[in-house]
Amino acid sequence: MKLKVLGSGSAGNCYLLQNENETLMLECGLSYRTILKGLNFNVSDVAACLITHEHRDHCKAIKDIIKAGIDIYTGKGTIDFYGMSGYRVHSIRSEEQFAVGDFTVMPFKTDHDAVEPLGFLIYHNEIGRLLFITDSYYCRYKFSGITHIMIECNYDVNVLNKNIENGTIPYKLRNRIIKSHFSLENVKEFLSETDLSEVREITLLHLSGDNSDEKMFIEEIEKLTGKPVYAADEGLELELL
Ligand SMILES: [Zn+2]
Ligand SMILES: [Zn+2]
Repeated sequence: MKLKVLGSGSAGNCYLLQNENETLMLECGLSYRTILKGLNFNVSDVAACLITHEHRDHCKAIKDIIKAGIDIYTGKGTIDFYGMSGYRVHSIRSEEQFAVGDFTVMPFKTDHDAVEPLGFLIYHNEIGRLLFITDSYYCRYKFSGITHIMIECNYDVNVLNKNIENGTIPYKLRNRIIKSHFSLENVKEFLSETDLSEVREITLLHLSGDNSDEKMFIEEIEKLTGKPVYAADEGLELELL
């Protein structure tokens, strides 16, 4: 199984979990054309697209994705936000497990300024349990037996404060960022409280263009966890063992 990053961050998120038979798409926040290219124009292998919440950087291509015949799975709040209906649109609920293709998915609530934001715990027998959590400033759940982690690491509070001081970021945005996105400190706290014994690697998602420091984030999380850490730069491909 491979993880392919088509985009990560406020300019658009889309990730593919791909083996020879099928693809699970996480988010569709890029143009449909970009997503199609990332799929090598192979739409028929896509088992489904899971969507965390209604923000455009996670949903941009949602209507085209449905038109292309791909099933989407997301919370009712997100479905209603776009007024979507039809047999391709599946409403899911926190803590109610479902299966798509050979994947089993457990959605869970996240904390973000969106209608019904969700994260996903994804099981597949080739990779074990992959945790996908983005656009959340907190995680109320404890997970065990995780083998792969994809987690947002949006900003560092010191970098953010510096940007506010020098006027790069308006002060009024500060609270919105802090109450909706994972900081380096939040990620460290979450990882320290999580059983990482079976974790093979950690991939950091949704780094802010202004308020992050990719090299420092990778170093700090590697130092804390002793695991290989990657930043989800566009074009990243990882073999998930
Ligand atoms: Zn986002
Ligand atoms: Zn968002």
